[in-house]
Amino acid sequence: MADSIFTRIIRGEIPSHRLYEDDRVFAFLDIGPLSQGHALVVPKEPAETIDKLSDESAAAIGRCLPRLARAILKATGATAFNILQNNGRAAHQAVPHVHFHIIPRFENRPDGAGLEITWRAQKLESAAGADLARKIIANLAG
Ligand code: AMP
Repeated sequence: MADSIFTRIIRGEIPSHRLYEDDRVFAFLDIGPLSQGHALVVPKEPAETIDKLSDESAAAIGRCLPRLARAILKATGATAFNILQNNGRAAHQAVPHVHFHIIPRFENRPDGAGLEITWRAQKLESAAGADLARKIIANLAG
């Protein structure tokens, strides 16, 4: 399969505003920011979606997300942020290489509203919830 655009950014074949790099992780500014400071945190491992990512890469990303978020908050003065991680086209994923968005949010600033969230909660019925939880737990080992 062809290398993703993020693999090419990691290799330095495509320019980026790099924020952080270690042996497993690369972070850079999003080219189409939803707000000032919008950044992407990417594993060097070229997994398409997070369910295919190794534990080692997942742990490496988990370790650096809080540090990057703190630095972005300090640099931009943002008061809040979303971490967004899309998997699959139905979930709005455009680039088939795992990535975490860090999206700063600013109260009372028009340029801080690039991300809108519609949250239509449904009801979890007790019996259906118990059945579903059983099925998920049975698949956790894999
Ligand atoms: P997603 O919809 O979760 O797949 O998001 C992909 C993100 O990658 C978008 O926010 C794009 O703006 C961003 N993106 C695509 N190409 C580049 C690039 N060359 N440099 C930085 N960000 C990029």
